[in-house]
Amino acid sequence: MSLQNPVFIPGPTNIPEALRKACDMPTIDHRSAVFGEMLHPVRGKVREILKSESAEVFLFPSTGTGGWETALTNTLSPGDRVLAARNGMFSHRWIDMCQRHGLDVQVVEVPWGEGIPAERLGAVLAEDRGHRIKAVLATHNETATGVRSDIGALRAAMDKAGHPAMLFVDGVSSIASMEFRFDDWGVDVALAGSQKGFMLPAGLAITAFSRKALAAVEEARLPRTFFDIRDMEKGYAQGGYPYTPPVGLINGLNLACDMLLAEGMAQVFARHARIADGVRAAVQAWGLELCAAGPELWSDTVSAIRTPKGVNASDIVARAAEVYGTAFGTGLGEVAGKVFRIGHLGSLTDVMALSGIATAEMCMADIGMDIRLGSGVAAAQEVYRASAGARQREAA
Ligand SMILES: *Cc1c(COP(=O)(O)O)cnc(C)c1O
Repeated sequence: MSLQNPVFIPGPTNIPEALRKACDMPTIDHRSAVFGEMLHPVRGKVREILKSESAEVFLFPSTGTGGWETALTNTLSPGDRVLAARNGMFSHRWIDMCQRHGLDVQVVEVPWGEGIPAERLGAVLAEDRGHRIKAVLATHNETATGVRSDIGALRAAMDKAGHPAMLFVDGVSSIASMEFRFDDWGVDVALAGSQKGFMLPAGLAITAFSRKALAAVEEARLPRTFFDIRDMEKGYAQGGYPYTPPVGLINGLNLACDMLLAEGMAQVFARHARIADGVRAAVQAWGLELCAAGPELWSDTVSAIRTPKGVNASDIVARAAEVYGTAFGTGLGEVAGKVFRIGHLGSLTDVMALSGIATAEMCMADIGMDIRLGSGVAAAQEVYRASAGARQREAA
């Protein structure tokens, strides 16, 4: 692996120089006012990125997985029923965590490559007349398959069923890269990690709780200590943490939010959509198909690309790492060996994306696939040129 090349894995993502510097801080006393002055503005900025007026943001020294645990343990009790669709490795892992915590998970199995079936979940909720289901778990962007689910549609289905369950959304590979509407979608807990859309090193679980989720905390009986948001709330009220905070990362998050908000969230989403469009044009030019079952499911942060029968997709990833010092994502779980993934989120430009597409082409040709060098690059170039032309006309 070359440290000079950008990575094309769907997280951790490339870290902009300014953020690397922001994370590199001298030691400060985390119980001094200096830390509080850093912490509180960050929470407000994360809330703004989530499009929420009132969510309470908690930042744990952890990763997305710790965000899952924060959501579950603060709101639920052993034996509580939760409802979740399994359509990829990340929804699978969250379900597994629920089971290990002694929750009663009602799993809706979905072919990998499809999205969350809002209507099927709505039907399950409508049948649950005793309201035993306490929470619906949704993975907004299934990073294993490159599938974005429609959380607005899920919320509408929950409302139509007239069911009071909470809605927990894993936004680890969507938040800060694709549209996320905490308030409009009636999300109760949202979670992300620092190392994907926020362009930072791994190390923070970024979580947000609605009023309704906060109201569930006192009754929740699942054991929790490190992830107890009540301790965090007490700490925050005094300008600090219940333990030692990762000050450098929080400083980095402050700047990451500033960078995203200065670019404008609409522009950040448009940039991700454009870069993804270029990658998808390349996939089409290669004569390959996405794992995502239809255009309405296409993720703007990661593309999982199916290889033809007889071609082990992992060979492409291995070739890229060994020969070209470049990282792509392998297939996980059910789609291992069947797909390789190009991550296109975080700090990325059209120019960087072109280098990834070019490298993927070389690897595919190297392992004997019928790929014409330059075909995908040319297709992506057309997308990026057309968009650059439009942006230039707009600016004029
Ligand atoms: C990366 C990812 C996770 C896991 O996050 P970690 O930070 O590795 O713990 C969970 N869900 C989704 C959708 C992800 O993409």
